[in-house]
Amino acid sequence: MRSIRRFCRRLSWLQLIVLVSGAVVVGLNVLKFRQNNEARDRDRAKPVFEVHHLETEKPRIPTAKRVDSRPTKWIRVTQQAAPAPKRDKSLDSLHISIKTGLVYHQSRLSVLLETWFNDAPEQTYFITDTNDETLQQKTGDHLIVSKCGSSHSRASLCCKAEQEFEVFYQRKENKRWFCHVDDDTYLNVPELLKMLSKYDSSIDYYIGKSSIGRPLDISLVGKALPEGAVHKPFWFATGGAGYCISRSLLDRMESHIRNGGFVSICDSIRLPDDVAVGFLSECILGTTLTQLSVLHSHLEMQSRVHKSDVKSQITFSYGKLGTWDTLIPIDGPFSQEKDPTRFKSFYCLLHPKVPWCPPYTENLL
Ligand code: UDP
Ligand code: MN
Repeated sequence: MRSIRRFCRRLSWLQLIVLVSGAVVVGLNVLKFRQNNEARDRDRAKPVFEVHHLETEKPRIPTAKRVDSRPTKWIRVTQQAAPAPKRDKSLDSLHISIKTGLVYHQSRLSVLLETWFNDAPEQTYFITDTNDETLQQKTGDHLIVSKCGSSHSRASLCCKAEQEFEVFYQRKENKRWFCHVDDDTYLNVPELLKMLSKYDSSIDYYIGKSSIGRPLDISLVGKALPEGAVHKPFWFATGGAGYCISRSLLDRMESHIRNGGFVSICDSIRLPDDVAVGFLSECILGTTLTQLSVLHSHLEMQSRVHKSDVKSQITFSYGKLGTWDTLIPIDGPFSQEKDPTRFKSFYCLLHPKVPWCPPYTENLL
């Protein structure tokens, strides 16, 4: 104590003031630090609020007719998001249906059976007009011989389309999706499954692609509108690009389709089977076509698909667009002469390990 007094006596007044104010500043900082710590501890004891990123773009798991173009926002919410709806990822939940005819058993079906059919042999059914034992064998008895006519007429094709649905309804037990393609369509089954897994089959879905780019506005002059139908412009998915219908919508369609119902819808609008499916879905059952850009028919310039996107497309076909030939836009591995439909080339690009595919196919794109 005495030494402190002696030390203070030696200091000038100015030195004393500097020393005391320094001590006050240090003291205040210590106090502030302690207050901050206490506040942080209080915050830790509060309930936790989670910050979720709200998707306001088209949802990954689409819900019926959800359209919202507002920009993405960050907001605070107190609850976890609802669990995702149950989705069907398995091949077995799928029924694939192809309309064909005797004229195409050899020219179209042989290459289809050599290629993508092998991705889903149990799930794929063919509706035709004439029996063919060789084809029965190759398809594992999945060739259904209808009593429909064998011409390209609307009546014959609508009759076959009704049979396609009939086969589905007879074996629908564990089925969640009905997908139709033509016999000149390549169906990329793994990509189809990926796409369908984003949709809930217990919601009404009619998924496909229009080839005319606008809703069809038909004149019903002199035509009898089917019961319950609304007369309005409607979209329809082209059969050649393929379309899929969810189990929920299929269940609602059933009473309109079976026992001649589908043929009579075709007759009442006097338009082909794929148009009649659109009419039934949109004008009778009120389910709008969900359009996908990854489906392609020979009614479009398929060469517009970029090379790097080819493998992720779900359908392609081959044939004429006016006077132009349009095909799957790939160069190899097979030449045009060896593989005029390009089905083998595409199959090998997707499945390079298949024994008959040339080696190094996977590096081609
Ligand atoms: N089709 C049929 N019988 C016929 C003509 C065509 O079953 O007499 C089927 C054909 O096998 C295909 C679908 O109807 O699955 C569409 O036929 P196509 O590709 O010849 O005509 P597009 O509609 O492409 O002009
Ligand atoms: Mn065609």
